This record gives sequence, C-alpha cells and structure tokens, in this order.
Amino acid sequence: MRLFVTGGAGFIGSNYVRHVLATTDDEVTVFDALTYAGNLDNLKDLDGDPRYRFVKGDITDRDAVHEAMAGHDAVVHFAAESHVDRSIASPDEFVHTNCDGTNVVMDTARRLEVNRVLHISTDEVYGSIEEPGSFTETDPLGPRSPYSASKAGSDLIALSYHTTYGLPVVVTRSSNNFGPYQYPEKVIPLFVTNLLEGKKVPLYGDGMNVRDWCYVEDNCAGVDLVLRQGDIGEIYNIGAGNEVPNRHLTERILDILGKDASWIEPVEDRLGHDRRYSIDTTKIRALGWAPLRELDEALGATVQWYVDNRWWWEPLKQR
Ligand code: NAD
Repeated sequence: MRLFVTGGAGFIGSNYVRHVLATTDDEVTVFDALTYAGNLDNLKDLDGDPRYRFVKGDITDRDAVHEAMAGHDAVVHFAAESHVDRSIASPDEFVHTNCDGTNVVMDTARRLEVNRVLHISTDEVYGSIEEPGSFTETDPLGPRSPYSASKAGSDLIALSYHTTYGLPVVVTRSSNNFGPYQYPEKVIPLFVTNLLEGKKVPLYGDGMNVRDWCYVEDNCAGVDLVLRQGDIGEIYNIGAGNEVPNRHLTERILDILGKDASWIEPVEDRLGHDRRYSIDTTKIRALGWAPLRELDEALGATVQWYVDNRWWWEPLKQR
C-alpha cells in the first residue's frame, strides 16, 4: 500500500511513519509544511530508506495537496496545529489549518478516489467529564478551547465526507500521547528538559487536572489497526486508561530524575482549563488493540530518551 501521511514530521506522525516502515512493506510519503512543530530531525534515521519520501507542503494549498497525494492508496491525516496554549493566544491559525486544511485533504482524497482516509482526532473534542464518567464514541462533542473546537470541526468535516460523498473515512480520537520526539512545549518533554537544564517546572493551578496518558508507540499501533481493520464511517477512541492528575505525573518525573517537590513552580491556571479527560476504549479493544507498555516503564524510557538525545531538543528550546 502507498500511504500519504500529512503532518508526518511532527511528534506522533513521525513515530507512526517509523512504525509502518518497521511493521509492513508499505511505502510512505510524508507531506508536511514544517511549521515550528515539524522537524526533519524527527525522521532523520529514515533518510535513505527507499520506501520513505518527504514532500514539503501546506494542507491548505489545494494544488500542492493534489499533486502530492495523487497515486496513493490511503491517507493518514495528522497535520494540525496542536498546542492548546498557542490556540488560546492565537486561535485563527488553528481554525485555518485544522478546519480549512482538513477540508482540502478530504476533498482532494474524494477527487482522487483514495481507498481509505484516516482522520486523527483527539479525546479533547468531547470536553471535560467528572469522575467516574468516560466518553464513548457516540457521545456529543463539547470542546472548550480553540484547539479542541477546531479539532472537533475537522473531525466532523472528515465524517461529513463519508456521509455526503461516501469517502471511506475512519476517525481515531486519542488521549494524551507521550514519548520520543515530542516538541518541548508539551508538558512531559517541557518538564523533563527543564529539569535537565536545572530549571523549575511550571505546574498549572492546583495540578489536579487529569489526563489519560498513552505511550506514542501504543497509539501508533492503534491508529494503524484502525486504518487497516476499522469499519468505514466509524470512530475509535484510543486511550491506555492511565488517568493521572498533572501533579502526580510531575512527581513521577521528578522522582525519575532524583529531584524533590521544591522543583515545582506553581503558576496561574490555563484559561478554561479542562478538568478531566476520560474515554471508553471498548471499541478499539474489540478490534484486538491493547497498550503494551505500563505507564511507569514508558515514562522511564521517555525520560531516558530526552537524557540521551539533547542534540534533538536543545536547538528547539534555544529558538
Ligand atoms: P505536532 O504539533 O507535533 O505535529 C504537527 C505536524 O503537522 C507538524 O509536523 C507540522 O509541521 C504539521 N503541520 C502543521 N500545519 C500544517 C499545514 N498547514 N500543512 C502541513 N503540515 C502542517 O502534533 P502531534 O502532537 O504529533 O499531533 C498530531 C495529530 O494528533 C494532531 O492532529 C493532533 O491534534 C492529534 N492528537 C495529538 C495528541 C497528543 O497528545 N499529542 C493527542 C490526540 C490527538
């Protein structure tokens, strides 16, 4: 199969491309605008692989998307503006990239009669939920930040191409990912790299906001399973069931690096900060998926990756 992967130079996309090349005979074209979050260093180890090709381009540019997507069997659409704090500071780019860009990707896939299109969405589209509830795929969406609202818009645009035009779309809604190559603005790499630089870690509010952490390799395996075996027109939640308040996650990172709580710097809470994300993953588990890594083991491996790969993150933090 020839896969067209948008946003493949970002965090999850680059891990996904590596996963596909290692586990299948497929060929992969990465299509990525290389925004601040896209980085060819994320794919450096794949240089020279004859099954991998990179095309620089913007998903809002119809001609560029059409030219690059032609000849592919399937599309996996990761490209997005992805950082909630940036969406609060400047929502326009989020609506443009995530909604307009997704419309271009879906419309082009329709015109080129691509066999399968996987749209990558997020658990944040459901909004916040009090314990002990968990959202299923049929629950109504309730996004509350410009990021999650633009992702909810793109998710519905993608699904509308299935309902309206019969485009063979599937959607995944994943929980918070962590692992190698995550841009050091997101909480885990930010905290780990701050500590490695001898800086404190800024913890929002009371630190009791809960996220469900999924190791990126497990998420990529789930995404790939949905691409190949998911039912057309269906949505699949992907989450590992590792619900942890931010404060406890921070304490685990401090512990791994041999630091105490004095390294925590409490900061004013994020505007509109969602309290808890939680998703029911019965549907993807019925397809045969389960996370392979325990949270503590995966977190330890992730911290070690940032310890061992300063060449990768130091230039990004100096920008
Ligand atoms: P990321 O910010 O690391 O990567 C995004 C990539 O998209 C970058 O390579 C960037 O250059 C590219 N991009 C941005 N705008 C583009 C444009 N206009 N045209 C072409 N390429 C463009 O993001 P990520 O964390 O890897 O997330 C990937 C996808 O997964 C996103 O759709 C995100 O909403 C979703 N998601 C992320 C998480 C998470 O925890 N990181 C969880 C659930 C869902």
